[in-house]
Amino acid sequence: MSMKERILLLYKLNKIDKELSELISLRGDIPAKIEDLSSEKKQLDERANELRAELGDIESAESNVQAENDQLLVKIEKNDELLRSGAVKSNKEYDALAREIEDANIKIRENEKAAKEDNSARKSAIENELILIAGQLEDVNVELDQNLKELDELTKQTGEEEKDLQAERDELIKKIDPEDLAHYDRISSVKYGEAVAVVRKGSCLGCYSSIPPQKAIEIRTADKFYSCESCGRILIAEELIMA
Ligand SMILES: [Zn+2]
Repeated sequence: MSMKERILLLYKLNKIDKELSELISLRGDIPAKIEDLSSEKKQLDERANELRAELGDIESAESNVQAENDQLLVKIEKNDELLRSGAVKSNKEYDALAREIEDANIKIRENEKAAKEDNSARKSAIENELILIAGQLEDVNVELDQNLKELDELTKQTGEEEKDLQAERDELIKKIDPEDLAHYDRISSVKYGEAVAVVRKGSCLGCYSSIPPQKAIEIRTADKFYSCESCGRILIAEELIMA
């Protein structure tokens, strides 16, 4: 393939890329909004899950305490029966059983107090935050739905054209030398998708700086890649694209 053909391929690629980016720019800030809303939704979901897990932990701790209290009550009752049965003969044994009852009662009261004071405040704080999050999630979901619908509408309108351009691009790329493509991509990424500039009447149409006459003649011969000394774009003589 001649050098001239290689330069022309990059010029055609740039034309397609400009059309594609124009189509994509029609979507405005909707894709960015969708991204923001999605990440907001994810954060809210994560926070809600954390809170639900914490609530679950508190509730299982409470039911553990309840189980412990039930066992303590059984013990108290048993000791009580023993004490009243008259089967306990020694004072030492009597005192031991009585102390166990006392300790169990203290523990039960402690458990109940802790459950009431510590957990109920935290539980209602969690429940309030969950209600708040549910409201926020509803708002985010409504807004997200609206934006997705809008994007869908826009994509429907331009989708066909975009698909054709993309197919054309895919075909074109197969013909382009990988090194040329890498060269193109490098410049394109820093020049906002405008990697190739036309030279018209001794000026680079990419940056409107003038090109020395001798260089303009060389660019027309297209014997190698020329780049604009001020903007760095790949240069192509207008005569080449008109031919
Ligand atoms: Zn230039």
